[in-house]
Amino acid sequence: MGHHQVLIVGGGAAGITVAARLKRARPGLDVAILEPATEHYYQPGWTLVGGGVFSLEQTRRLEADLIPAGVTWIREAVAGFDPDHNSVSTSAGQTLRYDALVVATGMTLNWAAIKGLPEALGKGGVCSNYAKEFAPYTWECIQHFKGGNAVFTCPPMPIKCPGAPQKIAYLADDAIKRDPAVAAKSKVIYATATPGIFGIPVYAAPLREVVARKGIDARYSHTLTEVRPASKEAVFQVAKEGEEPREEVISYELLHVTPPMTAPPVVAQSPLAAASGFVEVDKHTLQHVRYANVFSSGDVSGMPNSKTAAAVRGQAPVLVTNLLAQLDGGQGDGSYNGYSCCPLITGYGKTIMAEFNYDAQPEPSFPLDPTQERWSMWLMKTVVLPWLYWNRMLKGGDHEKRFIPGLDR
Ligand SMILES: Cc1cc2nc3c(=O)[nH]c(=O)nc-3n(C[C@H](O)[C@H](O)[C@H](O)COP(=O)(O)OP(=O)(O)OC[C@H]3O[C@@H](n4cnc5c(N)ncnc54)[C@H](O)[C@@H]3O)c2cc1C
Repeated sequence: MGHHQVLIVGGGAAGITVAARLKRARPGLDVAILEPATEHYYQPGWTLVGGGVFSLEQTRRLEADLIPAGVTWIREAVAGFDPDHNSVSTSAGQTLRYDALVVATGMTLNWAAIKGLPEALGKGGVCSNYAKEFAPYTWECIQHFKGGNAVFTCPPMPIKCPGAPQKIAYLADDAIKRDPAVAAKSKVIYATATPGIFGIPVYAAPLREVVARKGIDARYSHTLTEVRPASKEAVFQVAKEGEEPREEVISYELLHVTPPMTAPPVVAQSPLAAASGFVEVDKHTLQHVRYANVFSSGDVSGMPNSKTAAAVRGQAPVLVTNLLAQLDGGQGDGSYNGYSCCPLITGYGKTIMAEFNYDAQPEPSFPLDPTQERWSMWLMKTVVLPWLYWNRMLKGGDHEKRFIPGLDR
């Protein structure tokens, strides 16, 4: 039976970042990562893959090159959690014990929850930036679009990067308008299960203006339930407050789907889960509410923050402080304020850098009005943030939650 001082389950954005920071803080610490995948992708880049700005290859790295020096990589999946005995079981039948556990498995995409979707995806104009297999096809669909409805869907929350379903709609709208003849016979429809355009009021206001300026047909409280590829129809359940629920069928030539998401079943069915299925940690300390030596970061953690890689930048230093204190028999003073950031691409060359906290208040990194569309923030999204991710965040760098060290208020 193996044992590690710190066992991290999941070697994605959160798992690698936490491991790197732990090793920087305590080089002698025995840290292991349980991760079956041999490749890691910069998922925030997939919007740009779908928009024809990045190649998929630009978003890919070998997992082996990202595991921090001195960290043990166990190339297996977790198969079960037994926090009462400080152990997990693995897909290969091992039992691993730990002094402290970090759960960072990310979310599960539930394509099959939408009738007809698994069969329809990747052909006939049905695409999604939410999987590496299909993001390049989004750009193909946009390039070959010759008119009709281009429909972009967003499922009920929580999802990772709640802005991503609409970002690709804005890029597609720009691309379609490059050819006035195609634009004249096209309609861009954004059909979202949410009651509004974005959950943070201060950023929702400029987004509503973007939608109006572009002439996008935004339909709220629309949940995609079925795709009918033979007739190119998308079926929605419409549930608006104060109205009888009804079904609406929208025909499409291009359908970009964001699937519903949940915690992975192995987490949701474990003693670590809250009723939501996500890991039940305190929203400030990131420490489990029942198992003091268990922590969580990233999409699988049960805090009410917006699930992004940027949120991990805010969480990782807090988690590491509190985990190390816990290992030492004390209580850390790290506190996470819900920081998250969604670079809201509103077209080619334009981005609203939406940074905010648990209180839905803006947390701008720059001394600029964060609600404005800016070329400089497009450069942040397309050049600076990917660089920071690979070279700072995953290396446990010190820029912490802010983009630029020293600009912390
Ligand atoms: C299209 C798209 C656009 C996005 N845009 C942005 C953006 O602009 N800005 C932003 O900040 N974020 C964005 N995100 C969100 C961001 O990518 C995620 O929030 C981030 O990757 C979360 O990190 P994580 O470590 O929790 O999950 P992941 O990075 O997904 O890593 C989870 C890891 O756990 C592993 N794992 C899963 N199950 C098991 C198991 N049973 N055992 C062991 N390991 C397991 C997986 O293989 C994976 O390596 C976007 C995501 C998508 C898909």
